[in-house]
Amino acid sequence: MNQTSANSTNEHPDAPALTITHLSKVYPTGLKALDDVSFTVARGGFFALLGPNGAGKSTLINIVSSLLKPTEGSVKIMGIDLEAEPSKAKRQIGIVPQEFNFNQFEKVFDILVTQAGYYGIPAKRAEVLAERFLKQLGLWEKRDTVSRSLSGGMKRRLMIARAMMHEPPLLILDEPTAGVDIEIRRSMWEFVEKINKEEGTTIILTTHYLEEAETLCRDIAILEKGKLIQNTTMKELLNTLSVESFIMDLTQPLTQAPKLGVAETKLTDSRTLEVTCDKSTSINSIFTELTDQGIEVLSLRNKSNRLEELFMRLVEPHGEGSDEPESQAKQSSNATAEVRS
Ligand code: ADP
Ligand code: MG
Repeated sequence: MNQTSANSTNEHPDAPALTITHLSKVYPTGLKALDDVSFTVARGGFFALLGPNGAGKSTLINIVSSLLKPTEGSVKIMGIDLEAEPSKAKRQIGIVPQEFNFNQFEKVFDILVTQAGYYGIPAKRAEVLAERFLKQLGLWEKRDTVSRSLSGGMKRRLMIARAMMHEPPLLILDEPTAGVDIEIRRSMWEFVEKINKEEGTTIILTTHYLEEAETLCRDIAILEKGKLIQNTTMKELLNTLSVESFIMDLTQPLTQAPKLGVAETKLTDSRTLEVTCDKSTSINSIFTELTDQGIEVLSLRNKSNRLEELFMRLVEPHGEGSDEPESQAKQSSNATAEVRS
């Protein structure tokens, strides 16, 4: 076996990118972090693993990346059993872990070339790939900088570049955007969407930024207290919502939200009206009422963080029984739209 690209391993072309079967994990403390979890991720998919802090997302990712052994169950990556053929299976995945874990004193470019060395990729090829990924992720200027001096967002992008060095067909990102500012987030998603679309790389991410999952991901699974409580397409999940919200930009400022018979209204600012109605309500009837009150709408769009609303219904509040570590709780408090925990 002398593969320079994992894409050349295609022994099970019909197998899903990831197959999780009856996976359970009990930590030595006795805590059951995963409880009989089964799901698959289709090849070429863009998949979100969601759940409040402490739900078991990182435990699952750490098992898939062989950092942890499951108590029960199995993992197959591109059809290759992780326990039976660990090195072959591991070659199929690139992992961007939740915590930074590279050599802080090594230069950016060298980190990538060193990483490629672990996979037996010749230096010449590694240099070509390193240049490509650093350029795509906006880090080329920083190639000779020691990683310690990079900003948080740059370190995050460096982790993505490093995970891509052996060109895995499956890229898994664990909370890649926690604490990363919006511009950097966008550039990260541009890259990830590009490799998903153009190279067919399967993407799995965990996040508690629900808006992000809603706009990016086609399929989702939701974990809560170690149990899989949802596994569906984003579209279907959003369809289960019986109400719909629109944001309307108004031509004239208002001091209070108009009362409508067919919908609820809320002013987010003097020229922005949020209207929530039953899915069966016609938009015409809303406009008629607004027009009657002399209110003119300049433009209209769907409110995009519908997933957040769904979450609040699906995931029960944890209250004081929650055993989430303090650091994670802090991290989540920075998020704009996040899983309630
Ligand atoms: P998430 O990534 O969804 O926030 P984790 O997988 O990190 O959740 O954690 C799931 C549960 O397992 C939490 O209750 C957490 O406190 C616990 N946990 C995580 N790592 C360990 C460990 N090494 N030992 C014991 N318990 C752990
Ligand atoms: Mg986690």
